[in-house]
Amino acid sequence: MPKVVDIRHLETFFAEAEDVCIAVHTHPDGDALGSGVAMLEYLRRCRGKRATLLLPDPVAQYLRFLLPADGWLEASVAPQEAERAVAASDLVICLDMNGFSRAGCLEQALRGSRARKLLIDHHQGPERASFDLVFSETEISSACELLYQLLLALPGVGSAERLPLEVLTPLMAGMTTDTNNFANSVYPSTLRMASELLAAGVDRDALVDAFFHSYRENRFRAMGRYLQDLRITTDGVAYAVLRRSFLEGFALQEGELEGFVNLPLGIAGVRLSVFLREDDGHFRVSLRSKPGVSARRLAAEAFHGGGHECAAGGKLYFPEDIAAPELAAAYIETKTARFMRNPAPSDKD
Ligand code: 5GP
Ligand code: MN
Repeated sequence: MPKVVDIRHLETFFAEAEDVCIAVHTHPDGDALGSGVAMLEYLRRCRGKRATLLLPDPVAQYLRFLLPADGWLEASVAPQEAERAVAASDLVICLDMNGFSRAGCLEQALRGSRARKLLIDHHQGPERASFDLVFSETEISSACELLYQLLLALPGVGSAERLPLEVLTPLMAGMTTDTNNFANSVYPSTLRMASELLAAGVDRDALVDAFFHSYRENRFRAMGRYLQDLRITTDGVAYAVLRRSFLEGFALQEGELEGFVNLPLGIAGVRLSVFLREDDGHFRVSLRSKPGVSARRLAAEAFHGGGHECAAGGKLYFPEDIAAPELAAAYIETKTARFMRNPAPSDKD
């Protein structure tokens, strides 16, 4: 639970701010977008502030129903507008990222801002020195759950019923996606939150429908091929490398591969799932693991990344890390064979 003295600070930050910029991590997922939209709507509707939600990249189609009519912009599409918004703000709030390095094209503008800086996040290793106030909690489902607890703790709030559905619905959305619909990272506080939000009128059926029952058919065709071609090593590592031709062949859009990486963990004996998809000059890497295997450590050691113990990500560059994209499979096999000899989380964090 957040400390009372920090909540007082938070209340002061909100009370004294006039123009707020809210930023979330690159390639925003449900938790990033949900927490960003909830923060935006709280500040506008409950506090009467001017606020802008800055999304480093375009929001994937499957999440767009969460976006309000206005108050947000996609920084890679409108970089000057985004920079102007940061320059005009007196409070910068970063959500669902542990530091500015996860803010993509917004990194320099945010870092250089003279505004007060607030971090609300659930990843390990928060970049504390860059912020004036930090709420960092890792034993929690999502940034949305942490933001929910903070909003409830503010003077005059106290219960979900005091917050509008425009705040509560995106909070439920982000918590639902970050827990993979209550399959992982679920704590007693997570179920309490779900129960309170349902009682306050959030339509969970509509969210489940939007997230899990509204895909295009080609996602499932692609999923079939992915599972067919999946490789599994003797160490219990399942991996797949999706090349451009695969992505183009199924006409896949951003977000349509969401969740693929989780599937191999359903196989007995698989302890780590490694999922690569090709981008310009690099592969984007997603890692998922069963407890005892640190996806986060592997992300840091082999893929320039990080994340949570059992859900992490990063990048694999060519020609820097591997001479050519064809060598990705060999790289994964070599790195994971060594890693699986001692896959536990490192004890220095
Ligand atoms: P996903 O596989 O869903 O893209 O990401 C899973 C987790 O890994 C998320 O919590 C995300 O924050 C983290 N993550 C993904 N990509 C990167 C990256 O490039 N760098 C770092 N530090 N974390 C990442
Ligand atoms: Mn998150």
